[in-house]
Amino acid sequence: MSAATDTDARATKYKRVLLKISGEALMGDQGYGLHPPTVERIAREVQSVHALGVEICMVIGGGNIFRGLQGSAQGMERTTADYMGMLATVMNALAMQSALEGLGVFTRVISAIPMDQVCEPYIRRRAVRHLEKKRVCIFAAGTGNPYFTTDTAATLRANEMSCQAIFKGTKVDGVYDKDPVKHDDAVRYDQVSYDEVLQKHLGVMDASAIALARDNSLPIIVFSLDEPGGFRGILAGEGTYTKVGP
Ligand code: UDP
Repeated sequence: MSAATDTDARATKYKRVLLKISGEALMGDQGYGLHPPTVERIAREVQSVHALGVEICMVIGGGNIFRGLQGSAQGMERTTADYMGMLATVMNALAMQSALEGLGVFTRVISAIPMDQVCEPYIRRRAVRHLEKKRVCIFAAGTGNPYFTTDTAATLRANEMSCQAIFKGTKVDGVYDKDPVKHDDAVRYDQVSYDEVLQKHLGVMDASAIALARDNSLPIIVFSLDEPGGFRGILAGEGTYTKVGP
């Protein structure tokens, strides 16, 4: 590690984190699918945190391509639709891998559903070793089970990898008491408890993800991914965000 990186690493209290982004974060203004310049922009945000010496896990949703609930609403069998959603997350993970490696950051895509020709299967101890070697681990295919979401997958993997926090990158800079896009008088929480998020349906993550974080005292930091340098800034203790915690 260079002297500069070493100094930077001391500037953040985080040694290992998990970044969760929705699939929609990758679609830019297109309304569907992948927008490679947007993927590259987010990859640069990840690269700048990786340069601090922080070990990074990522979970990317699949909603820009397919959501199981939408498929089942249109008559598809629910579990089949969910598997399609999980496959969509693999495509997003591969796009992020390509963007990060284009920037010189070594990565592994690790899938909950084995597909050996495409990426690695999930083996916890192996994933931990990748992190120790400073490879970004992109966890794909959710939990591998239908009826779950990638928010729950993110919480599960963050616990398994002993991450200090989940960083949930969104379009807004935290959790508000009502939708800040629709209401000018919406108020942002600096800090909010898991139970308040659940009771008030604050929409940070789905209830099973929040409960899993709560039961393991895993903090969730909600921040804006649209803010250039925002991810790195928050790791250094700057910027605005909401901490969901004990
Ligand atoms: N999915 C699933 N099990 C999981 C994770 C995801 O069945 O453990 C499916 C589910 O159909 C979901 C889709 O994959 O709708 C895409 O994930 P998600 O909706 O969490 O993506 P995001 O909203 O974060 O883009």
